[in-house]
Amino acid sequence: MARANAAYYAGCDPFADFITAPEISQMFGELLGAWVAVVWDRLGRPDPFMLVEAGPGRGTLMADAQRLLRRVAPACHKAMRLHMIETSPRLRGVQAHALRDATAVPVCWHGDLRDVPDGPMVLLANEFLDALPIRQFVRRGQGWVERFVRDGAFMHAASDFPAGHPACVRPVPEGDVLETCQPALDFVHALGTRLLRWSGAAALIDYGYDAPAWGDSLQALRDGRPTDPLQGPGSADLTAHVDFRAIADHVPRGVEVWGSVTQGDFLAALGLAARTEQLARAAPAQADEIRAAAMRLAAPDRMGQLFRVMGLSSGLAGDLPGFVGRRAGDGTGRGKTR
Ligand code: SAH
Repeated sequence: MARANAAYYAGCDPFADFITAPEISQMFGELLGAWVAVVWDRLGRPDPFMLVEAGPGRGTLMADAQRLLRRVAPACHKAMRLHMIETSPRLRGVQAHALRDATAVPVCWHGDLRDVPDGPMVLLANEFLDALPIRQFVRRGQGWVERFVRDGAFMHAASDFPAGHPACVRPVPEGDVLETCQPALDFVHALGTRLLRWSGAAALIDYGYDAPAWGDSLQALRDGRPTDPLQGPGSADLTAHVDFRAIADHVPRGVEVWGSVTQGDFLAALGLAARTEQLARAAPAQADEIRAAAMRLAAPDRMGQLFRVMGLSSGLAGDLPGFVGRRAGDGTGRGKTR
């Protein structure tokens, strides 16, 4: 599955198969640009700081964020060093093109977060974690077997079940599926370690769940429609829902974890309604379209509920914008610092 998805992102145009939030409306990238500026201020205006995006796709989110930062937060824009984490050479080219007009600053690409230079960091990741490869385990009797793909079909084989997984302490019905995504856990661990060391913050946006959950969430999309994940490896986008609880559990102690909150609540807190009306007034002929795009991003029956946002921070004065409070956990109501 891992190789099929790497081949897919390297060779296909993902955005023919699905549409992401920044492709729906410029407001998504603009609001995240404003988020970056406020976060930078609450970090004590570090100069320089790394603005990093993981899995930037077509580069639309960052291009919209850059246009906003240049216009309304020039000091932040000046202090920023722009770094993209992207493995697909073809998408790096698309991103370079998108950013050429949006920003005057140089852009550096990396294959891994560990290659980004040292220093305070603000990181954005939209639909990045869901693209990382998962493993699936199926309950059989008192144990687990792992589901693999071989010769175009699913097969099961004995395998080491991840030690210490919460599933070990709960009864799980026969045949239930458990998913793990070690690359996502490794990513947040490396990210948290960096934030602790040099300060910074991150917004991780993805569709997923934030409570213990079972079930097979692997899905493949081709031409915007669900398709068989086993057909034509490398020709369809493979994704799985993100387990935000597991993500939060892998953030190093000392990093503050915020949310997760729904994308609808996050965008509302960042001022989606005001920005929608501002754009609608400026372009009355497109007002309906602009309002429809805002609905699509934030309404609970569209992307507003299924998509969630988790924040991480270290060295921040005050709250992380967009979140009501630190992740609850110690029963004090104040939330806990991990
Ligand atoms: N953030 C974009 C696109 C999400 S698609 C948007 O909102 O539109 C997932 C992106 O992650 C693609 O750019 C893909 O090439 C990239 N990607 C997938 N696996 C990766 C990995 N292991 N390391 C870095 N980038 C990866």
